[in-house]
Amino acid sequence: MTHTPTWSLQQVFDLYQLPLMDLLFKAQTIHRQHFNPNEIQASTLVNIQQGGCPEDCKWCAQSVHHNTKIEVYPLMKTDEVLHKAKQAKAMGASRVCLGAAWRKPTASQLGKVKEMIATIKSLDLEACVTLGQLSTEQAHELKDAGLDYYNHNLESSPEYFAEMTTTRNYEDRLRTIHNVQTAGLKTCCGGIVGMGESIEDQMTLLMNLANLSPQPKSVPINNLTSVVGTPLEHQNQKPIGDIAFIRLIAVARIMMPQSYIRLSCGRERLSDAAQALAFFAGGNSFFLGEKLLTVNNRDQVADKALLKSLGMQFDNQTAYIPTQVCVQHAE
Ligand code: SAM
Ligand code: SF4
Repeated sequence: MTHTPTWSLQQVFDLYQLPLMDLLFKAQTIHRQHFNPNEIQASTLVNIQQGGCPEDCKWCAQSVHHNTKIEVYPLMKTDEVLHKAKQAKAMGASRVCLGAAWRKPTASQLGKVKEMIATIKSLDLEACVTLGQLSTEQAHELKDAGLDYYNHNLESSPEYFAEMTTTRNYEDRLRTIHNVQTAGLKTCCGGIVGMGESIEDQMTLLMNLANLSPQPKSVPINNLTSVVGTPLEHQNQKPIGDIAFIRLIAVARIMMPQSYIRLSCGRERLSDAAQALAFFAGGNSFFLGEKLLTVNNRDQVADKALLKSLGMQFDNQTAYIPTQVCVQHAE
């Protein structure tokens, strides 16, 4: 396994503070060494069980600790997952990500999720799940069931994480990520910005992500969407700003050159031009479909129109056929 360079906080700050044109040029140069700059990897999220989570994450609509009026529903049937996975494939997604609002899955829940994984794989799609904390044995079980990715985000710096949630700690996160890696699963690990954290917290998050060994294959960068009823319901009134967000994408790209850097929650608030700049910065993945887990996503028709206007397409080209422009020839 190639040794991952150990990043220092100062090195991350030095990157972040580069003149933007130099930072973007550096990021795009590195991006092109590993990826086709005109391709986007698309994933579709399916919330297989919603609400009632015992954790108290201040950002989250699904926590029982907050009064968010979210619809709570039990574990979805496998047939419904199959239906949603077929829809995801038709849209152009190459991966389906199943989320459940659990602290950790029980044996019977894991059994049901394994059936869903098999269903997704039967469509020749990649499967990712995010079920909370996982033991090594459970991680091996999911790997044996054909799972490709396990998502477990570091969210922020350890210090700010402790301010944002008290029912679990950073060590719990790192332990699950270690268990997932030990089982040979690819990790999807990122975080959230715009929660009122400092730039140092953001730099620490990126440093800790890049210093994971191996580095996460998929790195979701969420931009907080304030949910009414959560302690952060007014936080969106102080957004971090598009340029600051794009700087984070570029720094993540430089530090994790072979990872998919995913524009995640909050992308719907970016203009087409800001998204194009984020793609140039090395953001090469996003969620496709009208919903993320609980908050709205960008409309998929708008997404396809944007990619077409940029001369970009999904990385599983077979699924994405640019809509032909029918030119009516005057008779
Ligand atoms: N329950 C699992 C866990 O906590 O690990 C799965 C979480 S699922 C991947 C949701 C992720 O989306 C969270 O880890 C968080 O990074 C992000 N997220 C959730 N609510 C959000 C919000 N309101 N705004 C931005 N990101 C959010
Ligand atoms: Fe639960 Fe995950 Fe939401 Fe935290 S982010 S409250 S663990 S569903």
